[in-house]
Amino acid sequence: MNMSAKAVGQRSEASVIIDRDKCIGCDICVQVCPMGILALDKDGKAYMKYDECWYCTPCQTDCPVDAVRVNLPYLVR
Ligand code: SF4
Ligand code: SF4
Repeated sequence: MNMSAKAVGQRSEASVIIDRDKCIGCDICVQVCPMGILALDKDGKAYMKYDECWYCTPCQTDCPVDAVRVNLPYLVR
């Protein structure tokens, strides 16, 4: 799926949405995030630890199972 066009149509409070059913806990998104806002929970699933997202999207593009969706705001410049 193409990221921005569809993502902006959906409203959500979270800037990064992780599909826990898809996540295999590989830790890649945690490592690529320059802000260090992602972490693995006790079940080994990624989650957003801090809400400081820069919308740079490597977490989404590098996830091997397409479990991360960055909820791009309308006015990213
Ligand atoms: S979009 Fe960037 S800042 Fe936001 S969670 Fe992903 S890697 Fe981190
Ligand atoms: S990159 Fe994807 S599969 Fe790996 S921990 Fe992050 S969300 Fe889970």
